[in-house]
Amino acid sequence: MPETDRKEAVTVVGAGLVGSLLAMYLARRGYSVEVLERRPDMRREVIDAGRSINLAISTRGLHALRQVGLEAEALKHAIPMRGRMIHSAKGELTYQPYGKDDSQHINSLSRAWLNKFLMTEAEKTGRVRIRFKQRVSHADFETGALTVHDEATGQTRHEEGRVLFGTDGSGSAVRQEMDKVPGFQATQEQLGHGYKELTIPAGPGGTFQMEKHALHIWPRGSYMLIALPNEDGSFTCTLFLPWKGPVSFESLDSPARLEAFFEEQFPDAKKMIPDLVDAFFSRPTGSMVTVKCAPWRVGGRTVVLGDAAHAIVPFFGQGMNCGFEDCVVLDGLLGQHGRWEDVFADFERLRKTNADAIADMAVENFIEMRDSTGNPRFLLEKAVEKVLLNAFPGEFVSRYTMVSFSRVPYRLAYEVGAIAGGIVSELTDGLARAEDVNLERAGQLIRGRLVPFMKEH
Ligand code: FAD
Repeated sequence: MPETDRKEAVTVVGAGLVGSLLAMYLARRGYSVEVLERRPDMRREVIDAGRSINLAISTRGLHALRQVGLEAEALKHAIPMRGRMIHSAKGELTYQPYGKDDSQHINSLSRAWLNKFLMTEAEKTGRVRIRFKQRVSHADFETGALTVHDEATGQTRHEEGRVLFGTDGSGSAVRQEMDKVPGFQATQEQLGHGYKELTIPAGPGGTFQMEKHALHIWPRGSYMLIALPNEDGSFTCTLFLPWKGPVSFESLDSPARLEAFFEEQFPDAKKMIPDLVDAFFSRPTGSMVTVKCAPWRVGGRTVVLGDAAHAIVPFFGQGMNCGFEDCVVLDGLLGQHGRWEDVFADFERLRKTNADAIADMAVENFIEMRDSTGNPRFLLEKAVEKVLLNAFPGEFVSRYTMVSFSRVPYRLAYEVGAIAGGIVSELTDGLARAEDVNLERAGQLIRGRLVPFMKEH
């Protein structure tokens, strides 16, 4: 077994979703963990949890929580979303289940609740100390020393060198310091769209004004609106719009234009958002970025995880799920290797290709969500996919089900998904109804192309 001294103290930068969960994993391995977090403690001060108000957690994220005994409690606060509810501009609804049956669903969870819960549970281990209003501004990878600005006192101090985990999100200061190490490369691609959160309040007596167990989508080509349910009966809507152009955040520059746009494109949603104008013009507009970098580590001294290593756009609902899976993989490697350098090297080898794959799938899914979900051909393909999932259990799999309802490596999901998508597309050609799909031909295609590929990998 590993030689590492498990009483060693380590530092985690960022007590977001991934940093808080990682602290818990490290504590369970016996490390004493200091977490430095830039923001105030959101359990004591009312602050914006940042990013989205709620998010979707699926199999990978739930597995990570299960490993540390937190899944059951998290699920008590989650709302299962069993499919997509598509809203047309006329207000017609079309429902598409996500999986082969209702057991395959994703879950809507409050980001703030989850973050607070993870911080509290990490502290309960007795080995984790989270220090708030501590902004890391510089890391010296030669000595491991950190420069930390204490936002409460205004003082800047230097902390001694320890093994360092950078979980400080997409704008990671730790990653930016790694930029100075020879051979380090990073790309950041800003999406040409931004996002704005709006609220559909609960109906009388805390009732849900739309189907509770669905992720609602208003797909409109180059832009879209989505809504996820919250425990209190409300829905958080997110409007994704280009920054510039004929229909964009730039063009919706007055209450009259905004109201006319919603009346035309999202009339059913507009009726349920009473403070549309106020919310739209007072709330911030978020940006989205894909970050890819390499290497993810500096020797055995530092490693980046979660969004710090691989920020992705939110359209597969996998950013946090992927970051949580990072924690599971890293934890497994801590059980195998004694030296940090070996742990970090293997971690990057196992995770980098998968993080790149989900980053690319997330961008592709944006096009699917905003564009294709409203298209009859897409709806038919999804219905055919469901027939195949049920008719060929264990043989046919779709990309969505592999990403959201399995722990198959993302890279494999990407490749298998492309083959499965090709089969569905071929079987849908010339078809009027999914029930009429030629199952004999389907069997031949699945057993000829998909099954051999899966066996090989
Ligand atoms: P973060 O959550 O960004 O946390 C980083 C932490 O580090 C923060 O607390 C920050 O204050 C702190 N920090 C930053 N800099 C410093 C510093 N210099 N010193 C000290 N502390 C610092 N993912 C899903 O799985 N499902 C979804 O449905 C989903 N929906 C999303 C919707 C939107 C609109 C967006 C934008 C993202 C969504 N994501 C979703 C992605 C998810 O939000 C991220 O992947 C996740 O938050 C990553 O967690 P993290 O801990 O790596 O980073």
